[in-house]
Amino acid sequence: AQEKYATLRELPAQALCGTIVSLHMNAGLMADLPSLVSSGAEGVGLYRTELQFLVRSKVPRRAEQAALYSRILDSGRGKRVVFRTLDIGSDKVLPYMRPTDEPNPAMGWRAIRLGLDRRGVMRMQVQSLLRGANGRPLSVMFPMVAQLDEFLEARKLVFDEAAREVSMGHVAPQSLEVGAMLETPSLAFAPDAFFEIVDFVSIGGNDLKQFFFAADRENERVRRRYDTLNVSYLTFIGQIVERCDRHDTPVSFCGEDAGRPIEALCLSAMGLRNLSMRPASIGPVKHLLRRCDLDEVRAVIDDACASGAQSVRPAIEDWLYRNN
Ligand code: PEP
Ligand code: MG
Repeated sequence: AQEKYATLRELPAQALCGTIVSLHMNAGLMADLPSLVSSGAEGVGLYRTELQFLVRSKVPRRAEQAALYSRILDSGRGKRVVFRTLDIGSDKVLPYMRPTDEPNPAMGWRAIRLGLDRRGVMRMQVQSLLRGANGRPLSVMFPMVAQLDEFLEARKLVFDEAAREVSMGHVAPQSLEVGAMLETPSLAFAPDAFFEIVDFVSIGGNDLKQFFFAADRENERVRRRYDTLNVSYLTFIGQIVERCDRHDTPVSFCGEDAGRPIEALCLSAMGLRNLSMRPASIGPVKHLLRRCDLDEVRAVIDDACASGAQSVRPAIEDWLYRNN
């Protein structure tokens, strides 16, 4: 099936209306990196750093972490790689971490919460990222940011470490961007100051959707109950994009839904211009985007919303059937 899309590799994901959506890939292990060339991804929109920690029997040392980050940037050959800091806790339990017996781990002590409370691990990771970058551009992103002060603290830690590295004789990154994942509805309503200071926002749809619908993404009984094309959810996504646009804050979407063609089409119609997905999805998503006019898709979505439908999926499927 991948051969079918090979001819698209060098072509942009340009919709019939002329809009270009930039497609990036999600990665987390060294083995993913060859796909950066073969998939036609413009870069790595989400590099899940916790995977290196999950496959070890103890915390990887700073030099090991830095070596991995450096190799990833090497294989990216100048393409942008967004490194997400450790997202542990919840469904990602480190074998060498004392299990915290939490009744609701997804809403518990995880990701940036754990990072800010255990600064040592977070500082070591940030130092490793700075050393791995070794003078190249560096993009760091924090997971599960729920309010402005968490982002400000984490951002300060990055800049403090960057200054300290330089004072120790290490070379500063050519540029340093600090972003946040938007995975909790609260962050969408953060003060304007958040959107002004954050360098970029990436919507983590897997978590955002579970918190929006209060439906556990790990629970088979409820995880497929709410459609991503649900009118309330799409409206919410549209509002986030509008808010980011108003502040000129770059916004992308990196949850699994970005890799599902119809979902990717609707997310693009809601204004997203940057999607990050598993490498194998880039071809199919590009193929569909290139056959559609996003203004028409948006009109179908708006009509479906106005009609009182619960999901825009039937209307979109019908439109696709008639137009393709
Ligand atoms: C997400 O929540 O959408 C996301 C990309 O992060 P993860 O799936 O690793 O939680
Ligand atoms: Mg997440």
